[in-house]
Amino acid sequence: MTLLMAENIKAYYFTRMGTIRAVDGVSLGVDKGMVLGVIGESGCGKSTFINTLMMNIRSPLRFIEGRVELDGLVISEMSREQLKKDIWGKLVALVPQSALNALMPTMKIRDFIVDAVRQHQDLPKEEIVGMARRRFEELNLPSDTLNLYPHELSGGMRQRAVIAIATLLNPKLLLADEVTSALDVSTQKQVLNLLADLRKRRIIDSVVYVSHDIAVVRQVADKMAVMYAGKVVEVAPTEDMIAKPLHPYTTALVNSVLTLEPEVRKRELSYLPGEPPSLINPPRGCRFHPRCSFAKEKCETEEPPLVEVSEKRLVSCHLF
Ligand code: SF4
Repeated sequence: MTLLMAENIKAYYFTRMGTIRAVDGVSLGVDKGMVLGVIGESGCGKSTFINTLMMNIRSPLRFIEGRVELDGLVISEMSREQLKKDIWGKLVALVPQSALNALMPTMKIRDFIVDAVRQHQDLPKEEIVGMARRRFEELNLPSDTLNLYPHELSGGMRQRAVIAIATLLNPKLLLADEVTSALDVSTQKQVLNLLADLRKRRIIDSVVYVSHDIAVVRQVADKMAVMYAGKVVEVAPTEDMIAKPLHPYTTALVNSVLTLEPEVRKRELSYLPGEPPSLINPPRGCRFHPRCSFAKEKCETEEPPLVEVSEKRLVSCHLF
């Protein structure tokens, strides 16, 4: 069953430099119980994409068109007030890239939680603190953390606390934006285990996990979507994509990161020339064509649609 469906969503930043087409016609679904990994280089639009999935749109970003349906509700038609009151925290929650920025440096974790919950639900302070204490204990996080300031916690502990706080009201969908990128490998593992624990305990149903790191996404995602220059260029079950990437960009990405994997070693290492394009003035046709060694004339003028090439596999490339 589908929990979230985004249809042809476009979200652009209007800046003095020009219009940045960060999300430019993306359609993607998330099933109940699924972890969807979204991968791509930095600047490809993936952070804007997950913010658009929950309609967290703030100037200079504007939602241009499309439709986002979450658990049967068309949230793309709701006002920010309605989203704050009825949707955020309760149906969908976001864990941003920097846990430190997610918290208030001058507030104890406990007081921050009281403020955050009261934005969605009018409950007495003691009840909220009790709720937070029980949840921290359930997730094996020391509950005396609640009496500390953010700077008194380690980076990993802070990230785990932010995830526990974001999921306090049991949202069905958790959006995780590069949540392990600043952490060492063993702390990464603790954060990934926490996400698995949240699903096992049915505190959350589904996750959209955004990262530039395929090796990390592979550990958590059932399905992966690859973003390039504001568009999704390939979608596939995780292991199918690693074993046989279809889009030339996915191939380069997988081969450059997972070089120790036996199935990747069998393929030739690919070199990805050039830089990701500007999203103010992206290339015509296929946006990947200036870097693609398979590009033909058609690629420079015609944008390839995202088409189903086999069961559960979608790709946007004229080769298919
Ligand atoms: Fe390469 Fe053309 Fe496919 Fe784009 S459409 S990835 S340029 S072959």
